[in-house]
Amino acid sequence: MTEDDLIGREKRYEAVFSKKPMPIVDGDGVYVYDDDGNEYIDMGASYGVMGVGHSNPRVVEAIEEQARSFTYAQASYATPERGALMEALMDATPDALDRIFLANAGTEANEAAMKFARGSTDGSGIVSAKRGFHGRTYGSISATWKSKYREPFAPTVPGFDFASYNDVGSLKETVDDETALVLLEPIQGEGGIYPAEADYLEAARDLCDDHDAYLVFDEIQAGMGRTGKMWAHEGYDVTPDALTTAKSLGGGLPISAIVCREGMTEIPKGSHGGTYCGNPVAVAAARAAVEYTVEENLPANAERMGERLVEGVEALDTDRIVDVRGEGLMVGIQVRGRAGRYLSGLAGEGVLGLTAGRNVIRFLPPLTLEEEHIDAVVDALGEVIG
Ligand SMILES: *Cc1c(COP(=O)(O)O)cnc(C)c1O
Repeated sequence: MTEDDLIGREKRYEAVFSKKPMPIVDGDGVYVYDDDGNEYIDMGASYGVMGVGHSNPRVVEAIEEQARSFTYAQASYATPERGALMEALMDATPDALDRIFLANAGTEANEAAMKFARGSTDGSGIVSAKRGFHGRTYGSISATWKSKYREPFAPTVPGFDFASYNDVGSLKETVDDETALVLLEPIQGEGGIYPAEADYLEAARDLCDDHDAYLVFDEIQAGMGRTGKMWAHEGYDVTPDALTTAKSLGGGLPISAIVCREGMTEIPKGSHGGTYCGNPVAVAAARAAVEYTVEENLPANAERMGERLVEGVEALDTDRIVDVRGEGLMVGIQVRGRAGRYLSGLAGEGVLGLTAGRNVIRFLPPLTLEEEHIDAVVDALGEVIG
């Protein structure tokens, strides 16, 4: 089929998503390909989902094996891969966390955090941060700052409040004895790639302890090795009561998890769940993705490649770049004017990227990226912005 056919066919029936000018018909490692055979370095990795790279052989094999054996069994039947994923996740997360709930999308893991917190404390208030993003279902949009995600769908869920990010005073004013949960991204992603300051996360921990509230880190975008640590919060001296993960977790398949302290799960039996929770094929893919990330030490590569990328971008001789922020391979390049207009230029140079807000180019590439890819991306940026 021609490009127009592929895009036009979807555009004709698509309810929600706009379409990029190139379809994607193949992927391999850090590359994707359009139907004209053009090769792109996938610096967006479809919102950071492809952390272990496209068609990662370990993930493909795990999916194939599980699908041939059986594709589905409800979560109340134990299956070999599910237990193995739980053990792998337990090994890879803080010792203080000892329970796992598996779901399908990032937003479902955050919904679980909110329900667990309300269900197992006396309070009901949920505090999140201005500029934060937590997903598209009702609880998650209620905790999401930008009005464009909330207002068309009002009324949202009651009991939510926002504190300014990296503003300890604002957090102190917002958290009180009514608070059940403080939900924070250790690095804000959609909001424009803003890392948390240590004193902010430390204050959040103290406030939650003082007010008997849970502190949960939304690591859906920042986790799974992206920031140079397995979890972004490991860069801080703060242990949360839970973390939520999705995106890179499934190696491309839809799966999410909340890993939490046992105390958070004291909700009535049968009061929470979901038909597809812990579905075996996504679980097998996730097990392979977690093991690959750990065994290949992708966090260390993310740190090295991230440094090279930031240094390369900072060395570009242009006043159109205002700021370069991030950790590891979670990088935001703040530009003068709209970031979106640079993305098509980058695509023309064989590089796919994302935006974060109006004026930030965002890169969340596969963590398997090598030096030659970084250098090609910096060259492309030089062509387009320089
Ligand atoms: C993407 C994202 C979500 C939502 O995940 P979905 O899988 O789209 O539901 C939540 N929080 C953060 C920080 C995210 O980046």
